[in-house]
Amino acid sequence: MISITTLKGVGPKLAERLRRLGLHTVEDVLLHLPLRYQDRSRITPIDQLQPGEEAQIEAAVVGSRISGNSRRFLLCHLQDGTGDLTLRFFHFSPAQQQWLCQTGARLRCFGEVRTGYTGGLEMIHPECRRIEPDTPPVEDRLTPIYPATAGLQQFTLRSLAEQALECLETAALLPELLPPALLDQLKLLPIAQAVRLIHQPPTDVALAELENGRHPVRRRLAFEEMLAHQLSLRRLREHTRRQAAPPLAGGSLSQRFLERLPFTLTGAQQRVLEEITADLAQPRPMLRLLQGDVGSGKTVVAAVAALRAVETGAQAALMAPTELLAEQHHRNFRDWLGELGLEVAWLTGRLTGKARRLLLERLAAGEVQVAVGTHALFQEAVAFAELALVIVDEQHRFGVHQRLALREKGRTEGRCPHQLIMTATPIPRTLAMSAYADLDTSIIDELPPGRRPVKTVAAPDHRRDQIIERIRQACRNGRQAYWVCPLIEESETLQCQAATVTAEQLTELLPELRIGLVHGRLAASVKEAVMAAFKAGKLDLLVATTVIEVGVDVPNASLMIIENPERLGLAQLHQLRGRIGRGGIDSSCVLLYKPPLSQVAHTRLAVLRECHDGFEIARRDLELRGPGEVLGTRQTGEQSLRIADLLRDQDLLNVVRHTADLLLRDHPDCVEPLIRRWIGAGARYGEV
Ligand code: ADP
Ligand code: MG
Repeated sequence: MISITTLKGVGPKLAERLRRLGLHTVEDVLLHLPLRYQDRSRITPIDQLQPGEEAQIEAAVVGSRISGNSRRFLLCHLQDGTGDLTLRFFHFSPAQQQWLCQTGARLRCFGEVRTGYTGGLEMIHPECRRIEPDTPPVEDRLTPIYPATAGLQQFTLRSLAEQALECLETAALLPELLPPALLDQLKLLPIAQAVRLIHQPPTDVALAELENGRHPVRRRLAFEEMLAHQLSLRRLREHTRRQAAPPLAGGSLSQRFLERLPFTLTGAQQRVLEEITADLAQPRPMLRLLQGDVGSGKTVVAAVAALRAVETGAQAALMAPTELLAEQHHRNFRDWLGELGLEVAWLTGRLTGKARRLLLERLAAGEVQVAVGTHALFQEAVAFAELALVIVDEQHRFGVHQRLALREKGRTEGRCPHQLIMTATPIPRTLAMSAYADLDTSIIDELPPGRRPVKTVAAPDHRRDQIIERIRQACRNGRQAYWVCPLIEESETLQCQAATVTAEQLTELLPELRIGLVHGRLAASVKEAVMAAFKAGKLDLLVATTVIEVGVDVPNASLMIIENPERLGLAQLHQLRGRIGRGGIDSSCVLLYKPPLSQVAHTRLAVLRECHDGFEIARRDLELRGPGEVLGTRQTGEQSLRIADLLRDQDLLNVVRHTADLLLRDHPDCVEPLIRRWIGAGARYGEV
């Protein structure tokens, strides 16, 4: 690894900007691939220019002047014998003006051609150079355009890439890490060759493939990157597997719990429970992902798992991503486990002072068997007497690395708790295989009896009055309804304001209804009181932000209005509407959109109308939005794949997995360097 600061021109300031792009080493520069390319290998005569296109011209300056009053700009008039063109600069130095725009000078300019205010052709701020006797001829390769960040110019990135490519030979950078036989067998180019071609492609390259990532040289790199991720997760898994965990044998508590439930488990719940029970009985930590559509009954399964820990004399912790969801779980667990004489603690960031101290003491002394809470559960100060099981709900909201960090937190004296991760976003198999290669998977693929698909319709928001009438009808018939106001801006405050305003308007329009409001900014006790009132039927209509997305369970609610559905992911919409249709009654969901809808938005809402299976919806969501969104890595800001795209490159996954097996078995020496090259510092979790 050679530091990026060894490259010419990289001082502390530039190094900082490059760091923001994730570029630390010269190797990183080589793996920072162009987004697209410009063709500067040709000179286009001015009379053949097309407005809207990027082109390169060569022409003589016939005059220049400064114009404009408050906002001054420099105009430079050019002719090439076939026509005229004007260059327009808003930022310019006197030197530039004199040197570049001197009448008679010949310029080579590259930029986007447009039609100016007066009808003639223009280029605004083109890249220009004055042609001198020693000016090199036009480029013989395509010019790369790199992903950049504020204060970082393309020519800087280009110069760094050129220098880095020189190091490729002189410093033996990016040595081939894959065994030659494998390269042969998979018909892969050596990495150095692939990298060179991507940064400096010849003008006759298959440009479209190069830009959309399907060119063999890009696939070569995507393959190696996916392989490195796979190896990293697999190594992590092996590492965890080698640790000790308390075997949880099972006793009478879980049996008693199941007997007291007012329903029997579905076949799917029983099956996953057997898988979990078998894992928990091992002296190695369980690492299991429990997937199941909204309402499929994951919580009951989690409760049984928690009881396995308790009946062995140990403790269990359940972590949820939001206060509201944590509260909901706490209430469920308290009701269920309280009957068995167990104590369930509730720990969030809001618990402070004496109450918190007391609770921490009792947790540390083992007097409390089960703790439910937000990530506050895993703060430094929280210690358990013997934590044997960690359950994490809504995993996709915590990034992969957060999950790993959590696992480390739960570790004490070489003993690692078992871990059960629940997600209501069914993750398509291809993604699960790559992003969760370190987990075993259990799937609840059956809903409890009595559920009916939620009839879903899309309506433009000028039909708001009719929709409000529907709410009036439903509530008159003794039903309850939700009105969901999702994210309008990327700000929780604004989201809460929107919900507050909507609640006021609806209160005015529906004076006979009892209307409640919940959003993330309310005090936990207020939220809990509103939710409890809604659940008890003391409210008819609940106006909410997407905080109700998960966990809330009110079987009598049969109508849900979702505003701005076009702004939400499909999986999220599906989760939201999963709040209704639980009571064996016909339920409807109205997606109240703002026209006009884009084509994609249209398609997405159609998917939701037609489709009721969470897995199928997740698959379509993945197609429409890409894996970053579906896995939530974008929200957590976690760095994921740089070059590979799990959707585009999913056909590589099988080969990647087999190759990972092969390397781990026959070429273990390759593993560490591959992980270091592609994941770098992020892989450290696995090295403990
Ligand atoms: P999720 O998978 O979305 O977390 P929950 O565990 O919250 O689902 O279950 C949703 C509802 O279904 C709860 O009210 C729960 O008590 C109920 N439920 C769970 N399993 C069954 C079952 N086998 N039969 C009937 N109702 C069930
Ligand atoms: Mg749930």
